[in-house]
Amino acid sequence: MLIDFHTHIFPEKIAERSVAALIGGIRQQQGEDYQNPDGSPLCFRPATLEGLLNSMPAAGVDRSICLPIATKPSQTQSINRFAEEIRDARALSFGTLHPADPEADAVLEDLAARGFAGIKLHLQFQQYMIDSPEVIRILQKAEQLGLLAVFHAGADIGLPPPVFAEPKNIRHVLDYVDGSNLIAAHLGGWEQWDAVEQYLVGTNICFDTAFIRQFISPEQCLRIIRNHGADKILFGSDSPWENPADTLEFVQSLGLTAEEYDKITYQNALRLLKGA
Ligand SMILES: [Zn+2]
Repeated sequence: MLIDFHTHIFPEKIAERSVAALIGGIRQQQGEDYQNPDGSPLCFRPATLEGLLNSMPAAGVDRSICLPIATKPSQTQSINRFAEEIRDARALSFGTLHPADPEADAVLEDLAARGFAGIKLHLQFQQYMIDSPEVIRILQKAEQLGLLAVFHAGADIGLPPPVFAEPKNIRHVLDYVDGSNLIAAHLGGWEQWDAVEQYLVGTNICFDTAFIRQFISPEQCLRIIRNHGADKILFGSDSPWENPADTLEFVQSLGLTAEEYDKITYQNALRLLKGA
């Protein structure tokens, strides 16, 4: 079994436009002629539910977790309505909210009542520090309600600095919450892996493997996984920005034991999702 814990889809109507805008951001940050280091496409499939479902068999993915992002509070309702429809054996969407939402508590209570397994935050888009009072409040409430909270960690290839969720700020959050329902994407901090080793390895927070394979050495990746604990690592690709077949090939190349590999590719996900 293979569960991809980090994917993105958009409603049909806005999918192409959204991908174009996000690729525009990458080109703005990295240069007009930016290519992925290995030449893989910046976006490998249509960014719709259909595109996701059609892409899964080739990579052997049985189930994908979709992570939507509200870039302003006013989008929350419509995104979460779309997200609620994505819930079956092959694709499950988390909900989202924005830290500036004055109704954040009510949004979280509503998501929990509707049976959502978790939420996604992307502080780099939302422009709130991970350890700001607003975000800590959201993480405390999510913890109380039993919701998982996935958040973008570290720099973002398509967004300018400052970085809103650096490993040392993520560590600060653990003064307020236990951390075992938190998932710091991109192995705890994209392109900040030394700081991950300094501040986050060994904590309760889970990491995913999304969009790291071209940017981290296999040695450091394996060291982080082993020192942190393979029971707190989730297979995630960041599809459509990375093909899960490529992520899987990277994970398979690391030299994990069969036990570690099974935990990362599906057992940890099943434990966290609790049958959702
Ligand atoms: Zn992502």
